Amino acid sequence: MEQQETLLQYFEWYLPADSGHWRRAEADAPRLAALGFTGVWLPPAYKGHQGQADVGYGVYDLYDLGEFDQKGSVPTKYGRREEYLAAIKALQRNGVQAYADIVLNHRMGADECEEVCARRSAGGDRSRDASAPAPIVAWTKFTFPGRGGKYSDFQWDWTCFDGVDWDDRQDKTAVYRFEGKNWDSQVDRENGNYDYLMGADLDMSSPKVIDELDRWGRWYLETTGVDGFRLDAVKHISAPYFTHWLQKLRQESGKTLPAVGEYWHKETMALTHYLDQCGQVMRLFDVPLHFRFHHLSSAGGAMDLRELFRGTLAEARPDQAVTFVDNHDTQPGQALQSWVADWCKPLAYASILLRQDGTPCVFYGDLYGIPHDNIQPVKALPRLLLARKYCAHGPQTDYLDDPDMIGWVRQGEDSAMAVVLTDGPGGSKRMCVGAGMSGAVFVDVLGGRDEGILIPENGTADFPVGGGSVAVWVPEDVAQRIERDLGSAFPDSIS
Ligand code: CA
Repeated sequence: MEQQETLLQYFEWYLPADSGHWRRAEADAPRLAALGFTGVWLPPAYKGHQGQADVGYGVYDLYDLGEFDQKGSVPTKYGRREEYLAAIKALQRNGVQAYADIVLNHRMGADECEEVCARRSAGGDRSRDASAPAPIVAWTKFTFPGRGGKYSDFQWDWTCFDGVDWDDRQDKTAVYRFEGKNWDSQVDRENGNYDYLMGADLDMSSPKVIDELDRWGRWYLETTGVDGFRLDAVKHISAPYFTHWLQKLRQESGKTLPAVGEYWHKETMALTHYLDQCGQVMRLFDVPLHFRFHHLSSAGGAMDLRELFRGTLAEARPDQAVTFVDNHDTQPGQALQSWVADWCKPLAYASILLRQDGTPCVFYGDLYGIPHDNIQPVKALPRLLLARKYCAHGPQTDYLDDPDMIGWVRQGEDSAMAVVLTDGPGGSKRMCVGAGMSGAVFVDVLGGRDEGILIPENGTADFPVGGGSVAVWVPEDVAQRIERDLGSAFPDSIS
């Protein structure tokens, strides 16, 4: 039986800044493999401008993986360089691929400032100017004195960037574009041109910037041996750029280097447009599906479930969609907060883990909870992961025919599974798991019902579900196997 691809985002925003996360990942590797994860996305490993407190997206020095005394500490929020490397090796020893988080859009926390001539871009439409060119003082000189030229002697100055959002002379915030520079093209069209996101924005049309990022990519791959990439903020970076960066690294290394891009947009059209623009060198997170789950979660039972998967990236491009329920940006307290509520989490996870379309990516905050906000782990998640591992195989038959209750069946070679979910009152759904299952007893692996269902000769039965929940019916022996696995791999989830 072929192992299905299942990813895990191995961090949430409010992890303790104890520099202990790489050690946790190393220790966790065997258990993650046992739960069926094939790939783990680790947070950005380089030194951010807030030092040990930086989640990793405020990149200061891409070559400092917790090795140099910069920004107030040697380790990053997650640990030291050798601990990062050890975590990657531990994952790989257990047959789990390590994905690195690649943040190339911007730099923060420059060592010195410079006087640069710049124009303000218009607020609503950054393709237009809002001022004549005038000198500003910009934080754009990165000399990395704490690293002293190790690995790379490249130093950054304003000529490597298109603009900033801070004039230190006037203590003024605005979007400033440097004179002689243009915002990169083939970026998202929000705000007229959404090249600029934050910090000092890299000029992806500058040959010396491109050369340096190519050099860094080679160094990073050789140093860490990662298997793939999660690409940050791709909608703010010229689409052809990552085609170049990935293809070059793939050619040179001979590795496949799978990549998943973060293009934060509610419309599937925007995602498919980007995928075509970049030559389909990456998959994208299915943001539209996340918003379906958020709607389901907050509609108080009023969502038409027949629409749950319609028009999502998973439907349009199943092989290029990485499906997810929540992430470090959607969790409570974050900029893009759109958290899927507790009651809805098992429904959403069944939808990404047990259907055939898309590659699911589980969120650390759902697997382990978020102590910072008193959020408990999603108790059903380990069982759903193992149900995926053992039963989410073979052809899928959809029963997406009722606004309040939907279901689907998977028929593998030697097993079958019937899933039924509702955002209304409980009930049951008549579905066929195949005549081959006749005589088998099916039980709900999520434990919603005590009694099993004896599958009749024609393979068709009524599969019950409780109100506002999901039931996952599998053959009894598979359910027992799942409980045995949980007992050894994930004892905390047993109850
Ligand atoms: Ca940019």
